Amino acid sequence: MTTAVFPGSFDPLTNGHVDIIERSVRLFDRVIVAVVSNPEKNPLFSIPEREAMIRSELKRLGKRVEVRSFSGLLVEFLKQTRSSIVIRGLRAISDYDYETQMALVNKSLWDQVETVFLVAREENSYISSSLVKQVALYGGDVASFVPPHIGKALRKKAKERGGRRKQS
Ligand code: ADP
Repeated sequence: MTTAVFPGSFDPLTNGHVDIIERSVRLFDRVIVAVVSNPEKNPLFSIPEREAMIRSELKRLGKRVEVRSFSGLLVEFLKQTRSSIVIRGLRAISDYDYETQMALVNKSLWDQVETVFLVAREENSYISSSLVKQVALYGGDVASFVPPHIGKALRKKAKERGGRRKQS
């Protein structure tokens, strides 16, 4: 049985991530979507919020998809989950430098690691969590970038933030 890990911030999950996950399930027996806890990135959603949103979206894919979170080194998480395959999405040439650097660092930490890159669909290639957050926080429509319940959660956060801004 091959288990692959798709690590990321998923702050929040977008249609681009969902597509990569759906395609990964066709390639591997088990896919673990691993939410990286990285407080330095100043996330909009907490780890439990992100995990819950991803779980709710991926329920329909069945038991072969799991959602977990981790902090620390990815290679340690891979060893814990008995996987040596990392899935990453590639949007544009701008992703390439960072992604190959990460893949090489992980390989130097643990030679058994293989990073598999899936090229983003053209229609998703300009979607990023950070752009989606910006659009939502300024009151824009994110319906074509994220699943409906995530759009709702973004609108709620935008309202909370707006309220806080008005108070201060
Ligand atoms: P990270 O902080 O690890 O880059 P992200 O949540 O931004 O976390 O991205 C996780 C993975 O999903 C990365 O491999 C990224 O390239 C990929 N990804 C992000 N957005 C898209 C998209 N629109 N289409 C395909 N892959 C994407």
